[in-house]
Amino acid sequence: MPIPPFSDLLLAWFDDHGRKDLPWQCERTPYRVWLSEVMLQQTQVQTVIPYFERFTQRYPDVADLAAAPLDDVLHLWTGLGYYARARNLHKAARMVVSHYGGVFPREIETLMLLPGIGRSTAGAILSLSGGQRHPILDGNVKRVLTRLHAIEGWPGRPEIDKRLWALAETHLPDARVDDYTQAIMDLGATLCTRTRPTCAICPVSDGCLGLASGQPTAFPTPKPRRTNPTRSTCFLLLAHEGQVLLEQRPASGLWGGLWVFPQIDSTVEAAGTCARLTGQPPATINVLPTFRHSFTHFHLDITPVRCALAGPPTTVLDRTDLLWYNTADPPAVGLAAPVKKLMATLAPAPRPD
Ligand code: SF4
Repeated sequence: MPIPPFSDLLLAWFDDHGRKDLPWQCERTPYRVWLSEVMLQQTQVQTVIPYFERFTQRYPDVADLAAAPLDDVLHLWTGLGYYARARNLHKAARMVVSHYGGVFPREIETLMLLPGIGRSTAGAILSLSGGQRHPILDGNVKRVLTRLHAIEGWPGRPEIDKRLWALAETHLPDARVDDYTQAIMDLGATLCTRTRPTCAICPVSDGCLGLASGQPTAFPTPKPRRTNPTRSTCFLLLAHEGQVLLEQRPASGLWGGLWVFPQIDSTVEAAGTCARLTGQPPATINVLPTFRHSFTHFHLDITPVRCALAGPPTTVLDRTDLLWYNTADPPAVGLAAPVKKLMATLAPAPRPD
């Protein structure tokens, strides 16, 4: 017997098992759907519920949100993370009011011009609030479709993304698109979960190629791991009577605005830099073991070079980006993480003879 279409199986399952009591499922206005969709990006349903309720109480419609000061919106968002979402919500609400008279655009292309609304969020708003026939492709749906069709390749690759959108479009039913949209999200959230899909009770298991492969959790293919490049630097620890010299980084860029030990490219520059910055040659130079500090995009191998001064520093610190930092009575300044780590492990400087 042929397998019924995916959407028929899904809708029949949804009627019996789908989620129908989530706060954003009553009064499905574009505003409420939009709010819930944005909050649900990268955040679990249970976490979102109280935020959604507080938001809709404080800002019952898009005009209320647009009229609110951004600080209030950010305050209400506190704890949800990814604050760009809140800033975009606020900006988009103001645009809906100023450009479209407070009514969400009904054309997907126009909707997608609003900040923070991509194709999937726009599809969800239009299908869930107005029954328009648009697919969605959020994380749950990507997982279901890559498993159903045993699609190999990381979904972030443009050709895989294109294929998934085409499949999402193909599976759309002619009617009940709102329920279908909710149903496919529910399937991904409740049965076709990331690590333990419950295929035994899944309504679409008969046609699932991922299940047939014996390894449904091999889909979707994970993002390829990147090997981060490694850079190296030396931290110059210029120590004198319980104080070490720190330099403030420029406001933007790596460690923007934070205080770090003066940096040199190699240990041979230590003596010269010490003399230039303090007016004193180093009495002793100790090269300490190199340690690694990792950033998102690269590793930094740091070699601390410790110089004990032969006498008190003689240079006048007329630069506001230099500071003698008293380790016993530390001033309230921001330290870069590896500086903080190193400060904590610093043994007393060896005394010059
Ligand atoms: S059969 Fe298993 S892997 Fe396939 S869609 Fe259902 S839950 Fe997901």
